[in-house]
Amino acid sequence: MNPQLLFWVPAVLRIVGVFLVSGVLGYFFGHVVGLVVCIVVLCAILGIQISYLQLLNVWLDHPDSAKLPDGWGSWTDVFSRLYRLRRSDEKHQIELIEWLARFRQAMTLLPDGVVIMDDVLFLEWCNPAAERHLGLQNERDKGMRVTNLIRNPDFMDYIILGRYEQPLTLALKDRKLIMQIIPFENRRQILVTHDATETDRIEMMRRDFIANASHELRTPLTVINGFLEIALMQPNLDARTRTSHLTLMTEQGLRMQNLVEDMLTLTRLESVEFPMRPERVDIHSLMEHIRQEVEALSAGNHVITLDIDGPDVRGSTDELRSAFSNLASNAVRYTPAGGTIAISWQKGVTGPVFAVQDSGIGILPEHISRLTERFYRVDKSRSRETKGTGLGLAIVKHVLLRHAAVLAIESTPGQGSLFKVRFPASAVNQ
Ligand code: ADP
Repeated sequence: MNPQLLFWVPAVLRIVGVFLVSGVLGYFFGHVVGLVVCIVVLCAILGIQISYLQLLNVWLDHPDSAKLPDGWGSWTDVFSRLYRLRRSDEKHQIELIEWLARFRQAMTLLPDGVVIMDDVLFLEWCNPAAERHLGLQNERDKGMRVTNLIRNPDFMDYIILGRYEQPLTLALKDRKLIMQIIPFENRRQILVTHDATETDRIEMMRRDFIANASHELRTPLTVINGFLEIALMQPNLDARTRTSHLTLMTEQGLRMQNLVEDMLTLTRLESVEFPMRPERVDIHSLMEHIRQEVEALSAGNHVITLDIDGPDVRGSTDELRSAFSNLASNAVRYTPAGGTIAISWQKGVTGPVFAVQDSGIGILPEHISRLTERFYRVDKSRSRETKGTGLGLAIVKHVLLRHAAVLAIESTPGQGSLFKVRFPASAVNQ
């Protein structure tokens, strides 16, 4: 039925009822009685309406759905509708508060900085990343002008020129920041900051790597090209010279091949597209393989020992073979003939430990922290003479990173070096 009718019908019926009852009383007990009863009842109804109006008035000051009165007559309907309205309002309010909290949390977790400012650059709010990037403090700096907080001439120029469609790159507190102002709504603007220090560092490393790799490849290529030129210009070279040229060219070709192979290995190890697939690594056969390799490389010039007293681990056999073999072959290459090389695999206190100890040339302390950098060599000529690429320890570092293992280097110049790889206890194959 029509809600308007639902409201009016009972009210009209109630008044008609009062008149009827007053009429009946007037008929039996006289007009005066009927009139008095009618007036009294109508006044009572009016009083009730006024009291509910007052209750509604009081409630509107603090409109809490739990404190809404029950009502009488038409008021029951009014209050119940008000109750529903208020409940849905309260629900929306809770949803809005939750949404706002979620939004704030998302903003808090954002790696990029967000500063909300008004049209004249007064700070309204900023997230923790912006606090870190720009040295701001949301609570302390709220209401202050951003140009007074970020005191940087480039930033000032950016604001003055107002070319906000272009980002600004800024060096701030040893960090490289990329900033951009984005106007939004009519009277607000957002300043977004992105910390590009790490990306920049990686980009620089990549450039250095390419420059180093090209430099490394240039030398053997120059040698090969030189001999090829001689062969073209002097076709009648005697057999001995020709053989010696061919041998040198083969050596240089091999050097380039090793270099390219090591570079590919490094790229593969760094790539997220080649995740490690852990398997059970049979330590006995792996160590035996390393021993044979080292003995072949040493060609009987060193005393080599192998000691295995540790459990198998989980990891990539190929990657560990490459890392261990790099460490062991370095020991041979940097130990003069007659020296000793001790390879071991032990239980260790915190987990298995692989160690290679040599009695070789040793390393000065200032070089130790840089040995795992790509193409870092203490003695360039010795490295080249022994077919080193300068990438061996960089490969070791990456393999160990993928196995949560750490490399420790101890060395005394003239006495020898100890390269230790410590695996976590969790690496042990259960
Ligand atoms: P390379 O191919 O030149 O040997 P690596 O990355 O394997 O490259 O090693 C980096 C440098 O560390 C070497 O050039 C060498 O100077 C030094 N080095 C590595 N292992 C030893 C060692 N066992 N004894 C002395 N020096 C070493």
